[in-house]
Amino acid sequence: MSTTPRIGVSPTFALALVLVSATVVLATSVLVPVACASAGSPLGSKPRAGGIVFDIGSSVYRADRNWVTMDAAAFLSGGRAFVPMRYLGDAMGAEVAWDARTRRVTLTRGTTCVELTVGRPVIRVNGREQAIDVSPVLVGGRTYLPARFVAEAFGYGASWDPSLRRVTLRYRYAYSRDWLDRQSIWVFAQPPLDYLAEVQATGTLWSCYFAGWNEWDQFYLDSLHANSYIVVSNFPTAQGTTNLGVDQDFARRTACLDVHGRQVDFGCGIPIYLACHNNPEWRAFLESRVRENVGGGADAILIDETAGNASRLDIACFCPYCLEGFRQYLKARFSAAELRNRLGIQDVFTYDYAAYLRSVGAECAASDPRADLRREFFRFQFQTRLEHLRDLEETAREHVRGRSGTAGEALAWCANLYNLTPVQQLFIDLVDLVPFEMPIERLPEGKCVPTYALGRAAAPGKVLVGFPDIFVLAQHSPEDNVLWSHWLCEAWAAGVTFLLPYEAFTAGGGSFTLPAEAISETTDFLRSHIDLYRGTEPTARVAILYDLGAALYDWEDPTATGFYRIGRALYEAHIPYEVVWTGDDDLAPRSVTVEELQRYGLVLVPRRHGVTGSAAAALSAYQARGGRVMRDVTDATAVGTVRGSGLDVGLETDAPPQVGVLAWKKGTSLVVHLVNYDYDYGRHSFKPQGAFNVTVTLPPGVSLEGRILKLHRPGGPAEVVPFSLAGGKVSFVVPVGLEVYAVAAFE
Ligand SMILES: [Zn+2]
Repeated sequence: MSTTPRIGVSPTFALALVLVSATVVLATSVLVPVACASAGSPLGSKPRAGGIVFDIGSSVYRADRNWVTMDAAAFLSGGRAFVPMRYLGDAMGAEVAWDARTRRVTLTRGTTCVELTVGRPVIRVNGREQAIDVSPVLVGGRTYLPARFVAEAFGYGASWDPSLRRVTLRYRYAYSRDWLDRQSIWVFAQPPLDYLAEVQATGTLWSCYFAGWNEWDQFYLDSLHANSYIVVSNFPTAQGTTNLGVDQDFARRTACLDVHGRQVDFGCGIPIYLACHNNPEWRAFLESRVRENVGGGADAILIDETAGNASRLDIACFCPYCLEGFRQYLKARFSAAELRNRLGIQDVFTYDYAAYLRSVGAECAASDPRADLRREFFRFQFQTRLEHLRDLEETAREHVRGRSGTAGEALAWCANLYNLTPVQQLFIDLVDLVPFEMPIERLPEGKCVPTYALGRAAAPGKVLVGFPDIFVLAQHSPEDNVLWSHWLCEAWAAGVTFLLPYEAFTAGGGSFTLPAEAISETTDFLRSHIDLYRGTEPTARVAILYDLGAALYDWEDPTATGFYRIGRALYEAHIPYEVVWTGDDDLAPRSVTVEELQRYGLVLVPRRHGVTGSAAAALSAYQARGGRVMRDVTDATAVGTVRGSGLDVGLETDAPPQVGVLAWKKGTSLVVHLVNYDYDYGRHSFKPQGAFNVTVTLPPGVSLEGRILKLHRPGGPAEVVPFSLAGGKVSFVVPVGLEVYAVAAFE
């Protein structure tokens, strides 16, 4: 595909070009020569275009989505396309310098330095000379460079379209998965490059939301890649809407149906259909979207509305595909006798679950009086959605093998696991990157730490990205933008990260953008102190058990809310805890081992939260080896239970409940995060905290002798704080002035 013009140039055209160029006066000698030895930052300072198009004879070129007028035109000579040096350099984000005495051009970007001399068929790249078959030329006082050789030196591939007489330069992007790092900063949707630079983002999530892949998306993606940003691209996977570029009939045909056969809307007050994941037409549509996103070059595919039909089990789905699928499911899973005796199904071949529900006055499976049957229908929907997403992932991975690119290309898989509810946890093993919306409460009650602890346990080693759901965003006042610093720091303190919104959807149809200047001080701080967040290990002695098998089929979902409230009660009492997560021994199997439990002095089991299968066995073995298990725990009893056990929980403090304290082991040292939740919505500011004591029990292997304790905070200098060591514990006083967040590190 990458070919270079080798065709002759008409004498008339060349003459015209010289005449045009001669009228342009350019004082090239004012450009300052630069030495190649001065290496810049790896990225360079100017953004570079991912896709650059020069048309021969035209004095307009395109850089990504922008048309730029030149005061000269590209031309062909000796079968090579020549472009004015300044515009070629600008498009690639390179600094251009001209030495009139030696007639030498120097282009630099980041660590790449390229030199050419008029009349010499040689290109020097970082000091290494290479012969080329043409030389830079000086025409009418202007220097023209052979586009292909210069572009290739800066990492671009060049292609030539003879019918359009067009040279296209596309940045050659090297795919990898090295960016899957929890110390990352993500921005929602399609922010401009300068926004990403200002907040030091890793890349974008939800980059191509509604429309199918188009030229605009392609230019955007290429420009991000050319500037080293990651693109995690998505498309709605349960919303049937004309905004998707589909017709209304298609949206209606693929919609979920309720027990009465009526199309189901998506909810959230949005007048669009919930599309059925068991509908083959809808599946084919989503496969085409996956191929578009992979072919366009996305680094990761993001599945939104991950649960599919299971996101509306209060209504759907009873379409012919679901009813037939459920019959097949029952036939494969049960004998005729089991169907009759356990589930009351006489003839599975003619069985109509919707008709049965109507006959018992139930509007959905959730109100099915037969709990066993309801459970099987839920499991059928969970299982088919899991199979569907595995199929989509397989489509993506097959398609990525055909993607043109460079060695080491990779594709990550990603899904929005809303609030990490039990149904969402079913899908956690499918994905590499785990963003999740949350119904964040107002401070000081709103604390995301319990959800983050659950996520770290359910997805160990994966990148978790929290963010407020579209209802919270709709209510968020820009006067309270300092809360984004709080949310971002809270996330990093808890070992996860947080999504920054740029024209993010809000409930009710609006959008919300966090100004870069409202967050850049915090992102500067986090990026410049990134080492404090890397290589850390938890110190907690208390664990909360989370058994997905017990949580999954309970329609009232007490585990999710009960777990969260217990987590918050412990956090506010400054009792460090971790979560022990076990799968369901079925659709999302993951065993917990007794060794894992033995890290803890105490394991709490929430009320109504049964323990099933392999988790029950591990818990018994843990108890047999002397481990302590407290069952039937609620948010009201959790703190008393832990305190009453006499266990050293590893942390003592007289900090108020609205200050969170999170201690991590880091090698042989400790890092203690302090997060303020005491926010005044009337004054739009945090009430400063401080003058409280923190005592941490030194975990095994930690030694703080001879170290200095430094308190770091965004927007302020580091402060050295005295500390004392006694009886295997370290104590220090946090000075007054804790605003949003601070981190105490023993260095
Ligand atoms: Zn259906």
